Amino acid sequence: MKAIVFHKHGEPDVLKFEDVAEPTIRPNEVLVRVKACALNHLDLWVRRGIPGVPIPLPHIPGSDISGEIAQIGADVTTVRVGQKVVLAPLVSCGKCTACVAGLDNHCRQATNLGYMIDGGCAEFVRAPEVNCLPYPERLTFEEAASIPLVFQTAWHMLIARAELQPGEDILVLGAGSGVGSAAIQIAKFFGARVIATAGSDEKLAKAKEFGADHLINHKTQKIRDEVRRITNKRGVDVVFEHVGTATWDDSLASLASGGRLVTCGATTGYDAKVDLRFLFSRQLSLLGSYMGAKSELHTVMKLVAAGRLKPIVDRVFPLAEAAAAHAYLESGSQFGKVVLRV
Ligand SMILES: [Zn+2]
Repeated sequence: MKAIVFHKHGEPDVLKFEDVAEPTIRPNEVLVRVKACALNHLDLWVRRGIPGVPIPLPHIPGSDISGEIAQIGADVTTVRVGQKVVLAPLVSCGKCTACVAGLDNHCRQATNLGYMIDGGCAEFVRAPEVNCLPYPERLTFEEAASIPLVFQTAWHMLIARAELQPGEDILVLGAGSGVGSAAIQIAKFFGARVIATAGSDEKLAKAKEFGADHLINHKTQKIRDEVRRITNKRGVDVVFEHVGTATWDDSLASLASGGRLVTCGATTGYDAKVDLRFLFSRQLSLLGSYMGAKSELHTVMKLVAAGRLKPIVDRVFPLAEAAAAHAYLESGSQFGKVVLRV
């Protein structure tokens, strides 16, 4: 089969379009004929190499996958060949205390498709049956592939970790990113007031289309000053962080007393300072979040099927042009997801 493979870490040009062997499935797995694979910042980290994370080489990246079931293992009972499918990205052991509690994102053996195991930038990918999600019929393969990782991550951050309440004020950093645009929609769905930031007025106009109530251009405006103005100096109840060093100080300074900051990433760097006097006197909560439980993704898929949450596709590239797609994602000019069509 054709696949995007890298044999060493580095810039986008390490991504090669090559012939590789088709994956062999185990009894509890399915083989999926990939139709679309959406990119995430995770793909960029995996390609560049992460210190202390020995990613097996050669490697096929790609975590967000839609397609059709091509083959099923002997023990598979819930899906059939030919059925359209979206794959949950997180592959966990299914047996440990965390997994049986439904907290598979706490499984110590968990990894993503395309992270420590081969992913969906290929004609075929293998995945456990339990990772097969119902396909929202009205969606194109590109739209379907744009859902799992960002919506699952944003849902877990806002609902499970920050416990967002109706009527609360939330600051969503990086509204143009996949996870930011998902967060705006989920926060609106739960009745929060959303302040969104982005680096261009064009992106902010789109953030407004998807429900943002107030907009901050972080290139021309100071985030903390604008948040103070919009909230009458009170600050926000929740900050949705994934940007890291570049926005951290503003994010902390934007919190109301008792506010919660939840973060899932550090796109611009992971060095951050916290003034402990500020942390305890204002009774702030700093919350880390990683992926989400499969059950949360099932809820997300229901809401997508009902048209309540919408995947946002920015641009589609053919699989063979994965290097160009990575470079485009790295440029940060997208609003929503960058997707490879297989
Ligand atoms: Zn487990």
